[in-house]
Amino acid sequence: MADKYANITATIFNIQRFSVHDGPGIRTSVFMKGCHLRCKWCHNPESWEQMPEIAFYPDKCRKCDICAEVCLYDASVVIGKQVTVQEVITEVKKDEIFYANSGGGLTVTGGEPYFQSEFTLALLNLAKENGLHTCVETSGAVAFELLEQSAKVTDIFLYDIKDTASDRHKAYTGVSNELIIENLMKLDKLGVTITLRCTIIPGINDDDAHFKNLGALAEKLKNVTHIDIQPYHSMGTAKAVAIGKKPWDASVPLADKEQVEQWAQQLRKYTSTPINIS
Ligand code: SF4
Repeated sequence: MADKYANITATIFNIQRFSVHDGPGIRTSVFMKGCHLRCKWCHNPESWEQMPEIAFYPDKCRKCDICAEVCLYDASVVIGKQVTVQEVITEVKKDEIFYANSGGGLTVTGGEPYFQSEFTLALLNLAKENGLHTCVETSGAVAFELLEQSAKVTDIFLYDIKDTASDRHKAYTGVSNELIIENLMKLDKLGVTITLRCTIIPGINDDDAHFKNLGALAEKLKNVTHIDIQPYHSMGTAKAVAIGKKPWDASVPLADKEQVEQWAQQLRKYTSTPINIS
């Protein structure tokens, strides 16, 4: 069976070992390239395009002019490489001992893992054949069949809910949220375990109506074990500049601990679903 998947390839931009924010325990997160959305606040803009890109960091450049060959100072870096499913599984399995002790495993994230769906499905299948715990993080803006096909080989879906207001969702991510909510309801009916992941951006979606709708949504679902609140951070800005993309020019203030705890309390008014702060 393994041979069926092993040679399928995709472009990824990172394999992060010892990840502790992408599902339970110690995990290895595989970052896929390609995304259907264009969230203004995206912290991984280097994931948007499927093809490899060059990131340039002028502060590291020593103007040595040999970067056509190879940059010795990491000022010019190629983001994205082609890998096979087997290569990724071999890398992920290096930390099996840590997964066993912590309840961790593999997380497929991105970007949108289902942008390169054949690879993601193959990776999840081969991971399961190797006895690995699996999480997949998705925007949900994908054909439901892909979520359904992964359900048997995915232990936890990390499902992003970016905004419950559809117009605002479209304005800030490029797509409306109807399909995302519809897919979430259908996924819940399959009985799979779901974590809702909600990035909260001060001044954009931190209003009471959003928390109320989010709480109501969680109350309707039977298989959501908890909600992750993820405060906006601005790490995507420098990365966007490095790959020649226009960074988001909104001057969004960063939330402090107290503010994030207030959001959690606000959400608790509307749902009994446990809330984690990332
Ligand atoms: S879905 Fe995720 S990776 Fe895609 S643009 Fe939005 S934040 Fe970025």
